[in-house]
Amino acid sequence: MDEILRQSDKLAAVGQLAAAVAHEVRNPLTSLKGFTQLLQHEFPDANQSYFDIMKGELERIELISGELLVLAKPKPERFELRSVNQVLHEVVTLLESQANMSNVEVVLSLEPTLPPIFCDENQLKQVFVNIMKNGIEAMQDGGKLTISTRRHHHHLFIAFQDEGCGISKEKLERIGEPFFTTKEKGTGLGMMITQKIVQHHKGTLEVESQQGRGTTVKVSLPIDGM
Ligand code: ADP
Ligand code: MG
Repeated sequence: MDEILRQSDKLAAVGQLAAAVAHEVRNPLTSLKGFTQLLQHEFPDANQSYFDIMKGELERIELISGELLVLAKPKPERFELRSVNQVLHEVVTLLESQANMSNVEVVLSLEPTLPPIFCDENQLKQVFVNIMKNGIEAMQDGGKLTISTRRHHHHLFIAFQDEGCGISKEKLERIGEPFFTTKEKGTGLGMMITQKIVQHHKGTLEVESQQGRGTTVKVSLPIDGM
């Protein structure tokens, strides 16, 4: 138990540091992007692909620091009574066009009589967005993403089931490790942040997967809350 606590303290400290660095990187990055753009206009005869590479790399730094910034809690934390179903509806609306573009059908199977829970709505949205995005990204040739909720005793269970590529046993253990990604354009930060937020809500996160078949990510959250 001590070891677990020490580990999570360490993670929190690393998270804070990473977020602070990400924050410091933001302003110089914006200026770099701006001047790169200017240079490109000033030198129309130069090899344009150099500028494109520079812009691409700057955007990548922006993507990574953007994900890390979530850990810095840019918005003051606010735990309130919220309906998880409502939050899910909002996130699904947010990702609808991305799902459509990937030929992914999102199916909602929400239990209508769930009690509200104490949570930070923004953080919870972040969790659902991260998990949904992974589901969509795993289904290169389209498929169905089923999101279901139910209550069991003092917990709410939220499951995200996709029909995507799945993930091997060895890799499954590494999900949530900072910077672990199998994607060309991945950051490997989404699931780490997701795990941290779920832990912060005193919940649990489980990933079940069968390679070639699909993945189910299960989140449980306590109803009595904080
Ligand atoms: P990223 O999406 O940037 O790669 P994440 O932390 O969100 O980072 O995910 C880490 C890795 O976990 C992914 O690269 C992928 O290999 C695996 N993964 C997560 N969710 C799924 C899923 N639903 N289906 C298949 N693989 C997944
Ligand atoms: Mg991701």
